[in-house]
Amino acid sequence: MKGLNTRLIHGDENDSYQGDVRSLKTPVFQTAAYDFEDSASVERAFRGESDSFVYSRISNPTVRELEVRLKSLANAQSSLSVSSGMAAISSTILSICDTGDNIVASKYLFGNTYSFFTKTLKSLGIYVKFVDPENPAEVEQNIDAQTRAIFLEVITNPQLIVFDFERISEIAKQKKVLLILDNSLLTPYLFQSHKYGVDIEVLSTTKFISGGATSIGGAVFTYLSDKWQYIPKLQENFQMYGNAAFEKKLRKELFSNLGCCLSPQNAWLQMLGLETLTLRIDRICENAHNLASWLSAQEKVQRVEYSSLETSPYYQLSKKYFNSKVGCLVGVELKSKKQCFDFMDALKVIRRGTNFCDNKSMIIHPSSTIYCDLSDETKDSFKIPNTLIRLGVGLEDIEDLKSDIQQALEKIN
Ligand SMILES: *Cc1c(COP(=O)(O)O)cnc(C)c1O
Repeated sequence: MKGLNTRLIHGDENDSYQGDVRSLKTPVFQTAAYDFEDSASVERAFRGESDSFVYSRISNPTVRELEVRLKSLANAQSSLSVSSGMAAISSTILSICDTGDNIVASKYLFGNTYSFFTKTLKSLGIYVKFVDPENPAEVEQNIDAQTRAIFLEVITNPQLIVFDFERISEIAKQKKVLLILDNSLLTPYLFQSHKYGVDIEVLSTTKFISGGATSIGGAVFTYLSDKWQYIPKLQENFQMYGNAAFEKKLRKELFSNLGCCLSPQNAWLQMLGLETLTLRIDRICENAHNLASWLSAQEKVQRVEYSSLETSPYYQLSKKYFNSKVGCLVGVELKSKKQCFDFMDALKVIRRGTNFCDNKSMIIHPSSTIYCDLSDETKDSFKIPNTLIRLGVGLEDIEDLKSDIQQALEKIN
């Protein structure tokens, strides 16, 4: 097999759609529907006996080429591109849970995932038990006969906690529940889910994949698993499709019925992002490590969290699972909320905004923004103090980032 970068740039020769003009870029197939030679071909396509394109809510050549390249990146069994990271998460959970079922989820979650779990799923009678996966016994104790999956994020945001994936995947195996991982913060380039018993991986491709935050998108990957048979909602599909039970349920039912398709234009932008994925991630990890280490030595900084630093409580886990390349997020604590605001307001290169894994460095105060609706008590339990700032490091020259931070630190007291 060719190397990762070659595959991300050229795709799989058998799956490109160049047409007669031999375009070096996959064209944007900006069409809703497709023509057929005769009625029999239409019939075959509708019966699923051919893989002809029928309608772009179901599949589209540009989107499919992105799926092929993402599958190659992840070493996955299957890959489905969807309209956003939230579409990846919601359609996945709805493919495996019925009313009365539950999932056991990390309490440290992306804000909208938390909202989906506590509001949308609750109204459907699907319950989420929140646990602290730093304590695997808590995960185990909360699994009951109605539990279908354990859900966690590869590194938590903004706490930047790293879990012991091997232990959690053992529990999932023993209890015959699926392990679902949100790998948005690292991507399969930095964390290879298939090595640690993950059954389903979800990704916000808005982040690292798009590169430069050009478009919203998501992906769902499946890996080799013998657990599909234990999920009641997948029973029928398991009889029909065996190992492809979940993948078919997702693609043919939830994805199509919810209508959460990725647009061809966005698929094209994300393919462009993929071509430089490893270069950007390598550089961002280098910048972030360098900045985190430098920030630790600044007098006004109370605490820095970045797990490739030896001072991090997650250093060993991070080394084991990610080879100490841990993405763009750095946690920084100052003395007070006022100091955080004054510091952020004084920054000139680093922008105040909510995205990350972007080419541009961005900073936010999570407690007063993303988590502003939570009570102080819940924020405490989720380890989101109002002295914490989340810095998403970008691709700028490291000296410019340092001098920007330095002049801003000088302005606070
Ligand atoms: C951004 C993000 C999402 C949601 O992705 P969208 O593409 O914005 O829908 C989900 N999980 C994590 C960890 C994220 O960072």
